[in-house]
Amino acid sequence: MITRTPKEATVETGRALWQLELGSGIRGVGELLQRLDLRPEQVGWTDESVAAADYFPLRVPTSFIDRMRPGDPADPLLLQVLPVGDEMLPTPGWSLDPLAEAPASPVPGLLHKYCGRVLLITTGACAVHCRYCFRRHFPYAEHRVSDPDFDAALDYVAADPTIREVILSGGDPLSLPDTKLARLTKRLEGIAHVERLRIHTRLPVVLPTRVDEALLTWLTSTRLRPVIVLHVNHGNEIDAEFAAWSRRLLSAGVPLLNQAVFLRGINDSVEAQRDLSERLFSTHVMPYYLHILDRVEGAAHFAVEEETARGLIRSLSQQLPGYLVPRLVREDAGALAKTLICP
Ligand code: SF4
Repeated sequence: MITRTPKEATVETGRALWQLELGSGIRGVGELLQRLDLRPEQVGWTDESVAAADYFPLRVPTSFIDRMRPGDPADPLLLQVLPVGDEMLPTPGWSLDPLAEAPASPVPGLLHKYCGRVLLITTGACAVHCRYCFRRHFPYAEHRVSDPDFDAALDYVAADPTIREVILSGGDPLSLPDTKLARLTKRLEGIAHVERLRIHTRLPVVLPTRVDEALLTWLTSTRLRPVIVLHVNHGNEIDAEFAAWSRRLLSAGVPLLNQAVFLRGINDSVEAQRDLSERLFSTHVMPYYLHILDRVEGAAHFAVEEETARGLIRSLSQQLPGYLVPRLVREDAGALAKTLICP
């Protein structure tokens, strides 16, 4: 058998390495468990789990699996991606659209919830499917940003001089090719009152090869001031490769912030939060927000009581300097800003 090197594969296909890795992510629970030396009964696999995986399929890159502990059914990275039967339980009070985003969309592909900034839904695709995702039921097909929709979204931004910041979101905006991102950015640069470009992404975290020369060129060649808000929930997501790409982004002048979600069984202890904050800082990322889980149907088993979260942040504040304590926040549908719970 002839094995191609990554370089040969990229030359042959004309695609970047990260795009090849994105396409070869694991989508079968059997393969995931096999890689981790786990049997289905060890993770409580049932018919309901099958239904959960049919509704919101598993998707995870191998580079993220490499950071999971083999043989551990309670691994905090595994629990974020493994479909489970609890997702199919009825949960009164939890909804398909917990943040009521639909009414905040004046034109397809754009959400205008907060003053001074708008969010562009650039794609529905992600490299990883996080089981607690608040957009797990989002009708991406209705919000697919084709070129005419970009026109409508950009016309909307151009017509409102109070908009200083555009947030690229999704899905994950970095699942788009750099050429497409650069085209969109060029058009935003033409709107004089837009100053900042914020990118909400989990892609480099789960697929480190995403931070390549093409991405750095795009980020450093725009007049817009870029800032990247990552999504890391547990310290085990941070390794040497993470440190290497975050250093490259920092050297390119891109500030890095993190937002995490409080997740039962994953990061709901002072030790886990302290470790996360310290590892983030050691890799040039500032802890920013810690979100109370949005009440999205299918994710209730991840919920941490607000009072528990508040107590945990108080304890964290006693152990860490203030700049390493993330702001505990909640998003309330229709509110003009996130609700700050503490500190
Ligand atoms: S990467 Fe973000 S948008 Fe994508 S599934 Fe995970 S939480 Fe949701």
